[in-house]
Amino acid sequence: MENKTFVVIISSIVMLIGAGVLLFVLLLKFDLFLLILGGLLVFIPVIFIKNQLNKSETIEDKTYEWYKEKYPDNVQGDFVTCFTCENNSIDVRPLIHETFQHEIFCTQCAKTLYYSSKSPS
Ligand SMILES: [Zn+2]
Repeated sequence: MENKTFVVIISSIVMLIGAGVLLFVLLLKFDLFLLILGGLLVFIPVIFIKNQLNKSETIEDKTYEWYKEKYPDNVQGDFVTCFTCENNSIDVRPLIHETFQHEIFCTQCAKTLYYSSKSPS
């Protein structure tokens, strides 16, 4: 399983437990210690999830859609240009370590623009 997904799932479970503790405290039996504990169980996973989502982009994140959003001036429909040198000779090569993933790169400055799981036709 992907690390990011794993952290998000674990954090969600901890959050649910925290929410359960909070519900118990508020509805059934008030206890300051459990209230703080429940609060922490809800609060800490939020920070974890936020950290995960803010992490640097991985291959899965750097898609055509991502590139289009980040560099709207460099994508005009199917016409894609390099965001560093504005060159339009873009080529595709398969990634060695990631099967079924292709790297779309600039032939001028060799900069990677984005990744695609689709094989170029
Ligand atoms: Zn370039």
